[in-house]
Amino acid sequence: MAIPSHVKYLVIGAGIHGLSTSYHLAQLLKSQGRGDGRDILVVDKGGIAAGASGIACGVVRNNYFQPAMRELMAHSVSVWETDPEAYSYHPVGYMQISPESMHEDVASIAQQQKEIGYESTFIEGEKESAEYMKSMFHDWQAKGITSVLHEKRGGYANNTKAMYGLATKAEGEGVRILTGCTVTGFKSNSAGGAISAVETDRGEIGCDQVIIGAGPWAKTVWDMLELPKTVTIKGADGQMHSNVPMWIYWSLQEGTLGVDPELQKTNDGRFPPVIHVDSNEPLYSDYDGSLITDKMWGIYYKPDFHFGGIQGGAAPYAIDTDPDQVAVDPYGVDSPDFIVGEDFAHMWTSALAHCQKRFEGKFEYYKNEPSGGIGCFTPDSFPVFDVFRENCYLIADSNHGYKMIGVGKLVAEELCGQKSRLLEPFRFSRYAEGRLHPVSHSPFPWS
Ligand SMILES: Cc1cc2nc3c(=O)[nH]c(=O)nc-3n(C[C@H](O)[C@H](O)[C@H](O)COP(=O)(O)OP(=O)(O)OC[C@H]3O[C@@H](n4cnc5c(N)ncnc54)[C@H](O)[C@@H]3O)c2cc1C
Repeated sequence: MAIPSHVKYLVIGAGIHGLSTSYHLAQLLKSQGRGDGRDILVVDKGGIAAGASGIACGVVRNNYFQPAMRELMAHSVSVWETDPEAYSYHPVGYMQISPESMHEDVASIAQQQKEIGYESTFIEGEKESAEYMKSMFHDWQAKGITSVLHEKRGGYANNTKAMYGLATKAEGEGVRILTGCTVTGFKSNSAGGAISAVETDRGEIGCDQVIIGAGPWAKTVWDMLELPKTVTIKGADGQMHSNVPMWIYWSLQEGTLGVDPELQKTNDGRFPPVIHVDSNEPLYSDYDGSLITDKMWGIYYKPDFHFGGIQGGAAPYAIDTDPDQVAVDPYGVDSPDFIVGEDFAHMWTSALAHCQKRFEGKFEYYKNEPSGGIGCFTPDSFPVFDVFRENCYLIADSNHGYKMIGVGKLVAEELCGQKSRLLEPFRFSRYAEGRLHPVSHSPFPWS
């Protein structure tokens, strides 16, 4: 495709956010008689799903301790449900299985799910939780579990298939997707002012509005826009905390046990919900009986034909390298630095065996292939959805975002002048104003 000299809307990134925004914006422009998909150009330095959206586990859940996250996720789930086939979406549900230290947090999630009409069942008590799990999986054996939140909606989607489905829908509306085109800088008519053109390795493209869905490259684009490297945050203590780095990277740990996905069917022969277990129980190796950890741990897993087995992950770890020095490229499974190793395989397969007997002695089936990838996180690990430099809409999901297909729809509405109540809690100004989200007791940075 030849590169145009000017477009109304230039979208950076053909991942979940760039593609969802493009598709919904195209529809909205048309319905309002203000244009259509031909006004939108998506550029991506790789291809469709070249970033995090193409390697994500694809779990779609509502289980969040923060009310604003929960409401936003409920909206996204309803968007997934509009076209499960095109989005390769499997609405199998999701289960948060927790120890006593998380009981109160999860109880409040269950209560608020009731209030917003998000269907779930909440089981409390150790005996009751074990019975509930055994009614689904006869071999359930995890100890120390005192609550189970079973979300009836949500589930997972097949990562790349969903992106291709979304891209096809966007192109069907006339959106152009230009791959192999890297944004290298921005042009402006005044210092720090609105962006008039985007510089790429294939030439300059003038534009009225920029939308950034750059995932793990959010910091790279932020730096190109000459936005501040640190922020001041008003903490819960009322004190101002200055010089907090705006971005930090975390390494996501995921892998696949190469067994027949049918192994994980429920007692009544169905495919089960996505399972997420957090535990305070000591975790012992299923391989040699050694103690792996006596600290809190967490895993998630699902049978997945797309990955060819039981796929899932464990809690990520923060990368302590100076964010300016972290090599985001080559990304994902091509990275020499940020793919999971034997420690992860050992821990995750042992945790599977801790939860269900059917996984005992299966360590040897772990697929020894590169997996995992890094994410670019904000100071509080929650998304920033906001406009910078007057006409650059930044969608920085802090790695929450494969499930957030609805954010693009809401961003499209904001671009057409309709402010979104659901996006409002995620403005950049929350840091200086101290409008922070509550923090849970989960071992994951995004719960
Ligand atoms: C291993 C792993 C597992 C995950 N599992 C889940 C999960 O189960 N559920 C969930 O909800 N979330 C999950 N996430 C998080 C989720 O994948 C991301 O939050 C989400 O995909 C980000 O979407 P995006 O559209 O912002 O970015 P991406 O999908 O990363 O897309 C960004 C695109 O921008 C392009 N780009 C970057 N810089 C430039 C440039 N300068 N010029 C042109 N193009 C550029 C890239 O090539 C890329 O294609 C996971 C993440 C990882 C890494």
